[in-house]
Amino acid sequence: MRLTRKVFHDLAIWMIAFGLGIGIVFPFFVILLGVPSSTSLSISFFLACFGAGAAVGVFNFSLARMVVGSRIKVMAKAMTHIEKNLMSMAVSGDMNQCTPQECLIEVDSEDEIGESAMAFNRLVEALAQSMETQAAIRSFSEMLTSHLELEVLAQQALRQFIVHTGASGGAILYESAGELKVASSHGLKDVESLSASDHVRLAVRTGDSQIIHMPDDVQVDGVIAQFRPSEIFVLPATYKSIPLGVVVLATAGSFDAEAQTRMELFRQSFGLALNNAIAHDRLQRLAALDPLTGVYNRRFGMSRFHEEFDRAVRMNSPLGVLMMDIDHFKRVNDTYGHLVGDRVLISITGIAKTILRDGDVLIRYGGEEFLAILPAASSEDLRLIGERLRRAIEDASVTDGSQTIRVTTSLGASSYPRQNVEKADELVQLADAALYQAKESGRNRLILSR
Ligand code: GH3
Ligand code: MG
Ligand code: MG
Repeated sequence: MRLTRKVFHDLAIWMIAFGLGIGIVFPFFVILLGVPSSTSLSISFFLACFGAGAAVGVFNFSLARMVVGSRIKVMAKAMTHIEKNLMSMAVSGDMNQCTPQECLIEVDSEDEIGESAMAFNRLVEALAQSMETQAAIRSFSEMLTSHLELEVLAQQALRQFIVHTGASGGAILYESAGELKVASSHGLKDVESLSASDHVRLAVRTGDSQIIHMPDDVQVDGVIAQFRPSEIFVLPATYKSIPLGVVVLATAGSFDAEAQTRMELFRQSFGLALNNAIAHDRLQRLAALDPLTGVYNRRFGMSRFHEEFDRAVRMNSPLGVLMMDIDHFKRVNDTYGHLVGDRVLISITGIAKTILRDGDVLIRYGGEEFLAILPAASSEDLRLIGERLRRAIEDASVTDGSQTIRVTTSLGASSYPRQNVEKADELVQLADAALYQAKESGRNRLILSR
């Protein structure tokens, strides 16, 4: 049936040829109907039939072209328009513009043309979804590479996990010293209990995603969301098969296939970013914290102190400083050994942490010398807290076999703006001088700088 590379040319040839064929056969046919052959086989009758056949062929072709051709033309124009829309959306990454008006063609005939339109629409929908997933992955990867701080990364990643999977809430937990800690959460009430959940533990242990379908009115693992979750996905985040944490996503509805594909794609790149963030966090801690006691080391502690001092000056708010030194600590080491001495240091920092408030900064200033920074503490607060600390250490003990070791401490305190200092270091020098006085005047006491 194909004669040329153009359907309408083929159609024209076939239709006109058929018309001419009929024109040729017709004069012979009418003889059968009784028309005298002198008439039907005359040149003029032949020409008339021939002409009529050709005219019908041309007319039919024009009709076909008008009815079918115009439809196809409209469709081709719409397809070109949609193609341009998709291209510009691919560049901008904003697939929200892909509305039915902008991305689909109208299906207005119940035939092959309608079927073609439907097939085209299905193709566009699949393409738009895949472009949307690609845009989501691009934005997720950009986000991953622009954050190194563990908490910020976890917050941003969770936000994107939720946005791109349609989850109603979720959490990100990471493994630290054998425990799962919450790095960020959204929409879940009892987030801490997630770390004890069997599903979460199983996901971390096996590295396999866990899917929890919750029947109505049933709470699994005590996970209480601020909405009623019907489906919970627990996705392990791994790096080189080493489990680093989990992403928990919950929905009140259900996650469709596309959402699940995205979870899996996001999860893979998140593992690497989480690994980097955990390593960064560890390095930060290593650089900032004293390995024996876990409090700030002198270098980082003093830079924190300078920040606090500058803030106090700027905000015109008080700032207290306590300098503490263990009395006769050398004797402890000499009598019980260095390891016991270390345990005493650890015990003293533990006590100090319980007495100091949130926001206070504890620094291991020297071997057995500690500096506590107390933002917003008046000199009266400082006296109360310093005295409480001194007494708590005096009352505490460390045991070594049958031996009980007790130590006392001497403390010097200074406070801004009571002490009219201009530089942060002057405040420390004043506290140090007060500590020296405390030692000189008999130890196990607190002296406030005048
Ligand atoms: P004073 O009451 O005058 O402070 O007497 P002291 O013996 O505590 O004297 P000083 O403050 O000079 O003593 C410092 C001692 O602290 C010496 C050192 O053996 C001990 N020390 C410093 N760092 C550590 C440590 O990390 N572990 C242990 N076990 N001992 C330490
Ligand atoms: Mg000392
Ligand atoms: Mg000492």
